[in-house]
Amino acid sequence: MQPVGIYTDPVCREHSAGVGHPERPERMDSVSSVLADLVGEPGITILSGRDASDEQITRVHTVGHLDAVRASAGREVTVFDADTAANRHSFAAALRAAGSACAAVDAVCLGDSRRAFVATRPPGHHAERDRTMGFCFFNNVAVAAEHARHAHGLERVAVVDWDVHHGNGTMHHFSADPGVLFVSLHQYPLFPGTGRLEEIGTDAGAGYSLNLPLSAGRTDNDYLYLFDSLIVPLLHRFAPQLVLISAGYDAHERDPLGSMLLTSGAFAAMTQRLVSVAERSAAGRLVAVLEGGYSLAGLESGLRETINAMAAPEPEAAASAVHAAPGGRLVDSVVEELAEQAELQLEPFWGSLRA
Ligand SMILES: [Zn+2]
Repeated sequence: MQPVGIYTDPVCREHSAGVGHPERPERMDSVSSVLADLVGEPGITILSGRDASDEQITRVHTVGHLDAVRASAGREVTVFDADTAANRHSFAAALRAAGSACAAVDAVCLGDSRRAFVATRPPGHHAERDRTMGFCFFNNVAVAAEHARHAHGLERVAVVDWDVHHGNGTMHHFSADPGVLFVSLHQYPLFPGTGRLEEIGTDAGAGYSLNLPLSAGRTDNDYLYLFDSLIVPLLHRFAPQLVLISAGYDAHERDPLGSMLLTSGAFAAMTQRLVSVAERSAAGRLVAVLEGGYSLAGLESGLRETINAMAAPEPEAAASAVHAAPGGRLVDSVVEELAEQAELQLEPFWGSLRA
């Protein structure tokens, strides 16, 4: 077993965005159920996170935004936007989620853990510089990437976002920044409406965003084909010193908001590939941060598969199962076409990825 640190905190269950909201406190019960089975497993350490500092938050967000979320701590309910509302505990939970992502980065950079999972809520990848969005208050993964650079001097960080929604906040924060490679697979069209193939980054960051918009109904094979033909070769070319995952579970076949058909095993297979990338160029450093996932059963089984894959001693073991799925179903031709188009978009910056 590899040393894996898992960060969670009871305050993350206290945040509620209102009765009937899909991003609900019970999601932490799914986390707790997975963690209960891992207590005492060799190599697994379950840790309380810590709060993000103002400095850590304001590397990604405006002071005005931080203050607005902070002000919600004194009120029963604060409605920020159509999808995002806070109760008295939301600020504390959001601060703990972002801070725990930074603590996880510290752990893998200092050698306390080889890999880490940040199992917190609220999620973060939709949060923009100056506003909440899509259930998200602070952009946890972006805060973590900035922390890795400021506190540990890393120059190349990769963020792979497999949440079914596009990670608009993360992409926008890093779009002109060649120090962070952002890769997103997402259902399209779907909220938030960004993440077209043509959005490859701007200025010095051109070529450092890879958006893979996917029609509904995509399968394990489709996702793994994109990893093997495109994402992993690109990551190897970039050679990140840290791999971050925006780990949402709403592309799971049971999810009520997404319309993808991923089985729980897809999350293990994607994790294995990213573990391999981290082992090759990042001295193993890999941190996954929980994003969405609104079927409690889908969240629980996907999370379990991810953590098991992170703890496994042989990350390469199941690296080539793409064309051997049960039923023999091959990759959708639309996905093959998308991979070709994406490669053409990236070629001026990276050369041929299939070479
Ligand atoms: Zn999502």
